[in-house]
Amino acid sequence: MDSYHADKDGFYGPFGGAFIPEMLYPNVDELKSRYLEIMGTPEFQSEFRHLLREYVGRPTPLYYARRLSEKYNTRIYLKREDLCHTGAHKVNNTIGQILMAQKLGKKRIIAETGAGQHGVATATVCALMGLPCIVYMGEVDIARQAPNVARMKLLGAEVRAARSGSRTLKDATNEAIRDWINNPEDTHYIIGSVVGPHPYPDMVARFQAVISEEISKQLQEKEGRDAPDYVIACVGGGSNAAGAYYHYLNRPEVGIIAVEAAGKGISSGESAATSALGTVGIIHGSKTLLMQTGDGQITEPYSISAGLDYPGIGPMHAHLFASGRGEFHSVTDEQAMEAGKELAALEGIIPAIETAHAFAILKSREFEADDVLVFNLSGRGDKDLQTYIEYFNL
Ligand SMILES: *Cc1c(COP(=O)(O)O)cnc(C)c1O
Repeated sequence: MDSYHADKDGFYGPFGGAFIPEMLYPNVDELKSRYLEIMGTPEFQSEFRHLLREYVGRPTPLYYARRLSEKYNTRIYLKREDLCHTGAHKVNNTIGQILMAQKLGKKRIIAETGAGQHGVATATVCALMGLPCIVYMGEVDIARQAPNVARMKLLGAEVRAARSGSRTLKDATNEAIRDWINNPEDTHYIIGSVVGPHPYPDMVARFQAVISEEISKQLQEKEGRDAPDYVIACVGGGSNAAGAYYHYLNRPEVGIIAVEAAGKGISSGESAATSALGTVGIIHGSKTLLMQTGDGQITEPYSISAGLDYPGIGPMHAHLFASGRGEFHSVTDEQAMEAGKELAALEGIIPAIETAHAFAILKSREFEADDVLVFNLSGRGDKDLQTYIEYFNL
């Protein structure tokens, strides 16, 4: 049977691996040779589970959305990652990685951030563990994302501006990699999605897999079966989706649906719909699908939601797309904003705009009345209130 999990070298079919400069080998090799052994120890598992329960607030509910189900004449469950501490799924990964850093004896944490959500999740766990935290962020993003910069500072992190290039996420990533090369002994680099060189995509997916593990148990209790007909998630880099799909990847009876940001439209030139527009290349050490020009320059992505405007997708998702195992859709800013507003009005839940993209497919994709759908509600909309206000003239 085909496997949609990573092989021992971090390949998902033809995608993944670790294509990195030689100066990064020692750091990446140390992590690669130890992550599975460390994650497999009862001690690691009990500390990870303890923090997920007591600090993050897991398990998150699997909520049957009655009014939304009635409206679309199908059976819709919401996996409430928006109720995690800090308001999204990202903390599942940063909790796992901060424990990993401790087991590796690292004393200093670095991260990169675009919109600031991953920076906040990293600063949070560094405060929890009393470790110094440096977050690289593009100068342009620092100006655009002032509330998250303030959060990181309150949490005790140092935010360092990346002043080269377009002064956005990719430049912040370059600075973080440079830092890691210069500090191989004492520093752990916390990557925020299922992207980057092996072992990051696999390690992050395993930390986020708590989502599908819980869905299985909760559906068994509520529906008498452990798997839905479809599991649906938005994809930026792909970590919340990877977590929601994880236990169903090799079960072909479960439909996997991924929703990307089409921005102002797939052919508008302002989009982040990697599956529709991407070609094979290497980004951040991983062979995957990415948006690039004919001569290999990465295209600046655009989406109204800051968390989806990444120019690539993780290698797991590239493989799900290319193999046909996953069904990929893309949704415009406008469709996502309307879907977010509808979820708020029908269920009393204001989603993050990233998450709202997933719900928009209800308008374009038919489901059967007895289908069981699980939407991964990756985050709450508080951080996006200003965008909602401006968009709808509230
Ligand atoms: C960051 C973020 C995303 C996108 O990241 P993935 O790695 O694709 O999950 C989606 N939803 C929310 C709420 C986010 O904060």
